[in-house]
Amino acid sequence: MRRYRFLIFLWTLLLLTGCSATPEEEPCRYELMAMDTIMSLTIFGKPAQEAQDILQQAAGQIQDLDALLSVTDEGSEIYRLNHSDGAPVQLLERTHELLEEALELCKTTEGALDITIYPVVRTWGFTTGEYRVPEEAELSALLEKVDYTQVILDEENLTLPEGMELDLGAVTKGWTGDQLIALFQEAGVTSAIVELGGNVQALGTKPDGSPWRVALQAPEGGYAGALEIVDKAVITSGGYQRYFEQDGETYCHIIDPSTGYPSQAGLASVTIVSDRGVQGDGLSTALFVMGREKAETYWRTHPDFDFILLGEDGTVTITEGLEDSFTLYGDWENHPLEVIRK
Ligand code: ADP
Ligand code: MG
Repeated sequence: MRRYRFLIFLWTLLLLTGCSATPEEEPCRYELMAMDTIMSLTIFGKPAQEAQDILQQAAGQIQDLDALLSVTDEGSEIYRLNHSDGAPVQLLERTHELLEEALELCKTTEGALDITIYPVVRTWGFTTGEYRVPEEAELSALLEKVDYTQVILDEENLTLPEGMELDLGAVTKGWTGDQLIALFQEAGVTSAIVELGGNVQALGTKPDGSPWRVALQAPEGGYAGALEIVDKAVITSGGYQRYFEQDGETYCHIIDPSTGYPSQAGLASVTIVSDRGVQGDGLSTALFVMGREKAETYWRTHPDFDFILLGEDGTVTITEGLEDSFTLYGDWENHPLEVIRK
């Protein structure tokens, strides 16, 4: 039995890591399940043993962040905050950093991103999969507990008014990607690609110096386009990623904090191309809530990123920074494409 277990263990390892033994140009890959999604980390240009060590560290980092930031895990720092009954909670440095960034994004998006949305997300059943459509009165009562401006973050502590609860689900994967890229850089890696669910974050170029090619998912399945990137995060929020249907209505997992209902702003997906994952993740959720016009206005006042919007009507809107690097693909090739310029 022991031996059998050991063989299974070996087999799992083989499935999870793939490194070629010699040539330095070959990729070394590690796959794991965390944060409710499949993750794949690939680094290039390191000898196999060193590459495996780096990837092990990276996987440990993901598991640490998952344990720290999960909203359901009773040992997590977020769980502790959500059960603090209005008392200040001293934060670990990295949670403090993330919360500072997340609250700043809530502010600049004027609450389209609101990390205190958890009570509403939960009542729709998006945390458990036991979906239901709540009554309007129930939602308006819960919305009284949704307001990121009431969260107090000082040098060390976070104070959450009683009854309020945080959900960092909209920014956690982007933030995690940033931590992994930093870890790779510190280890001397110059070429890597991190895929966390639908998020892609690239370090440098491909080993041959050419840009990475990232596929953009089509809402109906398959691909809508392809994008070439160097040193960027490409992060998508889509209504098709997690949703349920009831009485002919579709309800997606991104909530408009001004109504408590799943966002219905006319977009099928929002892809953000940015230097940092945490920004891309927060904005992909926020711009999905805003809809096309407000997203455009937001970009004009905060032009340090690019976006691709796929409209529910089949239109495609991109910002000018992607004009040369983005191409529509397959069935989407002939869809109307508008380029927004400053
Ligand atoms: P995913 O993590 O599925 O790729 P997002 O980054 O768009 O997608 O995050 C969606 C998650 O964020 C939801 O599952 C929910 O936990 C949370 N959320 C939903 N709406 C909002 C919102 N308006 N502001 C902040 N968080 C939200
Ligand atoms: Mg997001």
